[in-house]
Amino acid sequence: MDDAFIKILKVIYKWVDGEERSAEIIFAQFKELITKVPLLYSILLVNSLALVYTHYGVAPDYLTIYVAAFLSFACISRAVRWYGYRKSEFTLRQAVNQIRMTVFFAVLMSIGFSAWGYALYSYGDVALRSHVIYYISITVIGIIVCLIHLPAATWAVSVTVGVPFISFFVYSGHPVFLAVAINFTLVIVVLAMVAQGYYRAFSSVINAKQQLELQHRHTKKLNLQNEVLANQDGLTKLANRRSFANYLDKKLSKSEPQKSFIVGLIDLDGFKPVNDIHGHAAGDRVLTEVSGRLTKLLSNQSMLARIGGDEFAFVIEHTAEHIEIKKLGQLITAALQVPFQMRTGLVQISGSCGFAIYPEAGNTAEELMERADFALYEAKNNARGSSIIFSNEHESLIRKKSQVELALTQSLQKEQITIHYQPIVDGQTGEILGFESLARWLHPELGQIPPDQFIVIAEKTGMVNEITLHLFEIAIQALKTWPKDLYLSFNLSAHDVINSVTLEKLRETLDKHGIAPNKIQFEITETTMMADLEHCSNITQDLQQQGFLVALDDFGSGYSSLSYIHKLAFDTLKIDRSFVENVQQNPRSRGVVKTILELCSSFGVRCIVEGVETEEQKDLLLELGCSSMQGYYFYRPAPIDKFNLGSVKTDA
Ligand code: C2E
Ligand code: CA
Ligand code: CA
Repeated sequence: MDDAFIKILKVIYKWVDGEERSAEIIFAQFKELITKVPLLYSILLVNSLALVYTHYGVAPDYLTIYVAAFLSFACISRAVRWYGYRKSEFTLRQAVNQIRMTVFFAVLMSIGFSAWGYALYSYGDVALRSHVIYYISITVIGIIVCLIHLPAATWAVSVTVGVPFISFFVYSGHPVFLAVAINFTLVIVVLAMVAQGYYRAFSSVINAKQQLELQHRHTKKLNLQNEVLANQDGLTKLANRRSFANYLDKKLSKSEPQKSFIVGLIDLDGFKPVNDIHGHAAGDRVLTEVSGRLTKLLSNQSMLARIGGDEFAFVIEHTAEHIEIKKLGQLITAALQVPFQMRTGLVQISGSCGFAIYPEAGNTAEELMERADFALYEAKNNARGSSIIFSNEHESLIRKKSQVELALTQSLQKEQITIHYQPIVDGQTGEILGFESLARWLHPELGQIPPDQFIVIAEKTGMVNEITLHLFEIAIQALKTWPKDLYLSFNLSAHDVINSVTLEKLRETLDKHGIAPNKIQFEITETTMMADLEHCSNITQDLQQQGFLVALDDFGSGYSSLSYIHKLAFDTLKIDRSFVENVQQNPRSRGVVKTILELCSSFGVRCIVEGVETEEQKDLLLELGCSSMQGYYFYRPAPIDKFNLGSVKTDA
C-alpha cells in the first residue's frame, strides 16, 4: 500500500517537474525566480492592501491592521531578500535549497493569505464579498504566472488555494459564487496546464543550449588537437615541414634586412639501410634520438623541424662569424656520428649539413631553402658527414646548373652526347681488360658539360632513358670493333634500373647487334641499390640470369656498410676513388680496402679499384691484393680512336 503511494507520488512529481533536472535548468530556474519572486510579492502586497482599504472599519481591527501588517511584513521581507539575491553567487546546492524554500513559502503564504481572505469574507456585504473572491482568484493567477518556471510551486499553489476556494463556495450555496468557483477552477486548470507546457519548452531550450555548448567545446578541443597534429611531426614531436615553412615565412616578414639568421638543413647518410636491415622500429628510434641530439645542440630560441623522412631543418640567429657556423656544423655532424645503441646492435650513420645565411644567400624562404639544400648536396657529394655554408662559388655553380638545365630541356640533342672510354686494366701487367663508357656532352655554347651534371638533370626531366639507349647503341657499335676478349662496362642511372621498358630495349639493342650479354657489365651505384635494396637486387639478379655482368659502382661513397652486401646480387665491386685518394696516408683507408678485398674474394666477386692516379698508389694496391684497376695513372677517359687497340698498351 505504502509502496503504491510512493510510486504515485513519484509519477506525479515526475509529471510536474519533467525529467530529471540538470544543473543548467536549476540555475536557469533560479535566475528566473530572482526577477519574478519580488514581483510576485509586490502583487500580493498591493492586492492585499486594496482588501484592507475596502474592509477597514467593517472588519475587526485585528484583521485589517495586525494580521494584515504581519502578512505585509512577511511579503516585504521575502521580496527584499530575493531582490538582494541579484548580486550574489550561488552554488548548485544553494540554488536547489532556495527553489525548495520558494515552493514551501508559496504554500505557506497561500494558506496564510487565503485564510485571511476567508476571515474577512464573513464581515462585508455582497460587494465586499465579491472583492474577497476577486482578490483570491486574481492573486492566485498572478502568482501562477510569476512562478511559471517552477511547476512544483504552481501546482502547490493551485491545489492549496484552489481546493479550499471551490469547497468554500460550493458549501456557501450562493449560485453566483458557485458559478465564479466553477469558472475559477477551469481557468486555474487551464493555466496550470499552460504553465506546464511552458516549463517543458523552457527546459528543452536550456537542454538544447547546453548540448550546443558541449558540442561547441568539443569542436574547439578537436580543432586545437588538429592544429597541433597538422603542425607536428608525429614521431619526433618536432615541428613538421608545414610549420617550419610558416615559421620561416613569418620570420622573413618580420625581419629587418640587417638582422641576419641561418637556415640549416641536415640529411642523414646511411639511414635507409638501418630501416632495411634493422627494421622500421629501429629506424624510428634512430630518428627520435637524432631529434634529441639536435635539440640539445641548438639553443632554445632556434626552430628545429623534421621536414622529411631523414631530413631536418633549423633556423638560428646568425652567430656573426663563418667560423662559428662551421663549428656548429662540426658539432652537429660529430653528434650524428656517435653510434646508436639498438637492441640488434650498434648502428652507425652520419649526417651532412648545409647552411644558407640570410640575407646573403636569399631573401625569400624558397631561395634560402634552395640554397641550404644546394650546400647540403655539395656536402653530401664532397664528403659525407660534413657541413658546407652556401657561398658565392655555389651561386655561380647554380647559375651554370640552371643554364645547363635550360639548355638540356631546350636543346638537348642526343647527337651532341658522345662517349669517352676509360680502360679497366690489370694492375700488374697493365693489360686492358675492358672499357668503361663515360658520357660526354659537348654543348655548342656552354662547352663540355660533365656527366654528373647533366645526368641528374636528365633524370629530373625524364630524358635519361632516351639518353641511355642512345649511348648504349654507340657503345655497342664501338664494342663490335674491339678485340674479342674486351668487355664494355656501361653506367646505368637509377631511373634506368627501375624502368623495365628501358632494360628490355637495352637487351633488344644487344640482340640486334648479335653481341653476347657476357660482354656487357652494367654499373649500378651503391646509392641506387640502397634506395630500394630488395627491388634492385631482384632486378640485378634478373640481369645476371640473362647473362649480363653487374657491377656495384662507387662502393664506399655511400653507406659503406659491409653488413648488407651479401643481400645484393652482383659480379663486380668497384671501390670508390675516395679510398684510393688517401690510401697511402691513411691506415684506416688501407684497412678498409683490405677488408673489402677479402670480402670480395670470400664472396667470389671481382673487385676493381677506381681513381688510381700514381705509381705509388698502384704499388700499394697491388700489395693489398687488388688486381683490376682504373684511373688516370693508366689512362684518362678519351674517344675510342685514341686507343690503339691493334697493339694494346702493356705499360703505362
Ligand atoms: P663513375 O661511374 O664513378 O665514373 C668514374 C669517374 O671518375 C669518371 O668521371 C672518370 O672520368 C673519373 N675518373 C677516372 N679515373 C680517375 C682518376 O684517376 N682520378 C679522378 N679524379 N677521376 C677519375 P666522369 O666521366 O666525369 O663521370 C662522372 C660520373 O657520371 C660517373 O662516375 C658516373 O656515375 C656518371 N656517368 C658517366 N657516364 C654515364 C652514363 O653514360 N650514364 C650514367 N647513368 N651515368 C654516367
Ligand atoms: Ca661507373
Ligand atoms: Ca665509380
